[in-house]
Amino acid sequence: MKTINQVHGIPLHYARLTNHPYGTRGEQRNFAIEERFLDTLKEALQEVFEHCPLGIPEVITTAGIFVDKPGQHGHGKAFDLDAIFWSDETLVTANFIHKKELYLGIESFLRKHFGIVLNYYYPNHKDHWHVDTSVPVDYNEKSKSETLYLQLVLKHIYKEEILVDGVWGRQTSGVVKEVFERLEIDTPITTKANYVKFLDITGKIAFKLYEENISPKHLLSNLTEVVENLPQQSRATVREALNSFLDHEETATWLNNFEEAHNLDAIIEDAIV
Ligand SMILES: [Zn+2]
Repeated sequence: MKTINQVHGIPLHYARLTNHPYGTRGEQRNFAIEERFLDTLKEALQEVFEHCPLGIPEVITTAGIFVDKPGQHGHGKAFDLDAIFWSDETLVTANFIHKKELYLGIESFLRKHFGIVLNYYYPNHKDHWHVDTSVPVDYNEKSKSETLYLQLVLKHIYKEEILVDGVWGRQTSGVVKEVFERLEIDTPITTKANYVKFLDITGKIAFKLYEENISPKHLLSNLTEVVENLPQQSRATVREALNSFLDHEETATWLNNFEEAHNLDAIIEDAIV
């Protein structure tokens, strides 16, 4: 075991305290970590931030690495990633709903290094990614966490109509075939080389979409989605207030100035060369 408080010079912080709650930058801490797992973590983060348009972040918050409990954490061989802070952007994993492109871009590259990645849709992982190396990197149709990721990118990155339920079935396999063809990747997805190529291209496309989608209209549709995900008691009130803002004549005129750019085809072209 080694003790670290940074990875590649990026400080590791802890933000699950009363005075440093979840979602803040927290405070720097020491974490015990198994050495080979640290090598994988370094390689993974290096690749993530090489591709991420925001570059190297200032802080990463983690809920823990070595934790005295059964499983990979008990051996210092798992990492819980809560949030990433750049100078003027933040990805708090609990904000998946309005940070989908950035979130899925990062997750695509994490998956090239960790056989296990548990995300927002996996039970009990709304507020962090859990990553570990207890299984090899590949795609297994029976894996709920891998199928959830797959369905999420098919839906939100490739804009396919698909149910996100973590179950591989006829719909998912059909859409995979179609998208792989579009990306010029061989099937089946269960062949490691094909899957890794898919992860790589998807990561690049997601980051590109993130960069291009920062238009007022896209941000507004993010806001609408956040409202629709609120608890029922508050939803109606917020929705009504938002709608009266949107229905105002001047707001409508202003919003009409913005085009929602949807050049997914061009982005795919760029990513597969
Ligand atoms: Zn964990």
